[in-house]
Amino acid sequence: MKMKVTCIPGDGIGPEIVAEARKVLDKVCSEFGHEIEYKDVLMGGCSIDATGVPLTDEAIEDCKSADAVLMGSIGGNTSTSPWYKLEPSLRPEAGLLKLRKSLNLFANLRPAYLYPELKDACPLKESTSEKGFDMLIMRELTGGLYFGKRSTEERNGEMVAVDTLEYKESEIRRIAIKAFDVAMKRRKSVISVDKANVLDSSRLWRKVVEEVKKDYPEVSLEHMLVDNCAMQLVKDPSQFDVVLTENMFGDILSDEASMITGSIGMLPSASLNDTKFGLYEPSHGSAPDIAGQDIANPIATVLSAAMMLRYTFDLDKEADSIEEAVRKVLEEGYRTTDLVLKGQEKDFTLVGCSRMGDLLAERIINCKN
Ligand code: NAD
Repeated sequence: MKMKVTCIPGDGIGPEIVAEARKVLDKVCSEFGHEIEYKDVLMGGCSIDATGVPLTDEAIEDCKSADAVLMGSIGGNTSTSPWYKLEPSLRPEAGLLKLRKSLNLFANLRPAYLYPELKDACPLKESTSEKGFDMLIMRELTGGLYFGKRSTEERNGEMVAVDTLEYKESEIRRIAIKAFDVAMKRRKSVISVDKANVLDSSRLWRKVVEEVKKDYPEVSLEHMLVDNCAMQLVKDPSQFDVVLTENMFGDILSDEASMITGSIGMLPSASLNDTKFGLYEPSHGSAPDIAGQDIANPIATVLSAAMMLRYTFDLDKEADSIEEAVRKVLEEGYRTTDLVLKGQEKDFTLVGCSRMGDLLAERIINCKN
């Protein structure tokens, strides 16, 4: 297959981790007989320095003309970097918001998987972490409370603030379809999270999700109230496969889910629109504190590249080969420093960012060869 991928290395550790993801993708291409045409574009602080704005219209066009975008991370130290003295619309993060909007990326996918080798980093009780978990939070990203009408005004001598939580049927339907499609590639179970005992928007959410479910007879569907879901995530995360939810609930639950994996350097993410196009990036930031030292963990970005192969290009075997390489490297005891608890260094082989990329690439195998 010929793939067109625009890369946004970004700031901080971004260029280092994207280089390692590309190293792994190149090995996938040589093993499985594919070709990727890359184009690099600037976004974030590096774009501000070069062009005066965090994202140029040409960069947006370069993203739109690709099949997918693979991103590192953007931004600098928010207390000391001169980028944060600029007005908000010119700061690094404004570039990412503009890109998400221009590409209509309404579906955010964040897997949370506990690697058996990393279960010591999981903050849950051993009896819970022992069971492991492998879930994916499907969060609606462009509607709901964060995008509804808002106001703050004085009424009868006191200030009143209003935020509006609005969802159209069509917005719920398209994210529900994404969730069921993804469930078909996983363990075929969707838990839809809402607050239908209180909110009208949640009652409409439930109705539309039920309608979409009829087209997916193989996928099981359960509804769960958001407060219960927050508890179940720490009580028994192994019960979740795909968690489908609206914007604000997803914001909170996806952070909770990533926290219980205990290792932010391992978590990929994808943002999709209603075509096969996607923006793939690690869940962590640009880690300016460790930039340029070759100690960043590239695995979240490498796993984001695996998501790109799976969701944009439908190359499931190739994506599996990357995920398997990550498992092997951990099993063999290789770790970047962020994955090792203080005092346990001698139990592992500590490696830098670039070496970790080499180890992963070496372990990409096409079983047919
Ligand atoms: P961060 O995720 O960059 O870093 C938090 C801590 O985790 C730091 O100690 C860092 O060294 C460590 N860390 C993060 N990723 C790591 C990796 N791959 N390997 C090893 N250690 C890693 O969060 P922050 O410090 O709050 O933010 C730094 C900058 O990143 C800010 O400008 C913020 O706005 C930006 N940011 C960008 C994105 C994005 O581009 N989507 C997301 C979050 C934060």
